[in-house]
Amino acid sequence: MKYIGAHVSAAGGVENAPANAHAIGAKAFALFTKNQRQWAAKPLSQESIDGFKGNCEKYGYNPKHILPHDSYLINLGHPEKEGLQKSRDAFLDEMQRCEQLGLSLLNFHPGSHLNKISEKECLTRIAGSINLALEKTRGVTAVIENTAGQGTNLGFSFEQLAEIIDQVEDKPRVGVCIDTCHAFTSGYDLVTDEGYAETFGNFEEIIGLHYLKGIHLNDSKKELGSHVDRHDSIGKGFIGKEAFRRMAQDSRFDDIPIILETPDTEAWPEEIAMLYGFANE
Ligand SMILES: [Zn+2]
Ligand SMILES: [Zn+2]
Repeated sequence: MKYIGAHVSAAGGVENAPANAHAIGAKAFALFTKNQRQWAAKPLSQESIDGFKGNCEKYGYNPKHILPHDSYLINLGHPEKEGLQKSRDAFLDEMQRCEQLGLSLLNFHPGSHLNKISEKECLTRIAGSINLALEKTRGVTAVIENTAGQGTNLGFSFEQLAEIIDQVEDKPRVGVCIDTCHAFTSGYDLVTDEGYAETFGNFEEIIGLHYLKGIHLNDSKKELGSHVDRHDSIGKGFIGKEAFRRMAQDSRFDDIPIILETPDTEAWPEEIAMLYGFANE
């Protein structure tokens, strides 16, 4: 069974996210547990925590189908001591917020070398950052998102993701989220039959499907291999509707959160309905 939803608003408090997801016909959802563009956040109030848990129960959302996303400011592979520490502190706070909310996953972008350290050194730092956060928390899996490889962002190849995972000590608590737009623009064909088979065949071989904990379902405004991260609505971009039909029917993606991060939020109910239509064909 597929659990499809979108990255919904948590404006006014995290406790509002489950109702926002329910309103668009989502069976899964993503959210920010704090403002994603600020470093500091006030702690979650007990009222927010209870409200969130209560509303998840009310609308029938299981934690394993909820994929919170961390702040865009965090760089777990930061080349400089101060920036790295700030990122590690903020990431630990994000993990602890998930813990408080009873969530089991936290999705994040691996990090950027900023042309100051080697790729290898940066990947090692990212793994070190994950290890530190896992040591201090319980029950939350660190879910690394593949990137488009824009700028100096790492994690755009399955090999890089595997290299990070390799250096994580608590293997059962690390996973991967595949963003289709990022995969496509970093050079993974999702459109042709052979390309699709090869992409997920490679994923299985290099990373292992048991590490796949979530999917971001986005079409792409940019071409295959362009390394540019510009999401488009489902069927409007270079990936196209047929590729998403195939994914909606692929049993390898059962029972994990499948999250839309498409730009037209008004279209989410339609997009979710279309994807369930494909899944049920
Ligand atoms: Zn992301
Ligand atoms: Zn994404």
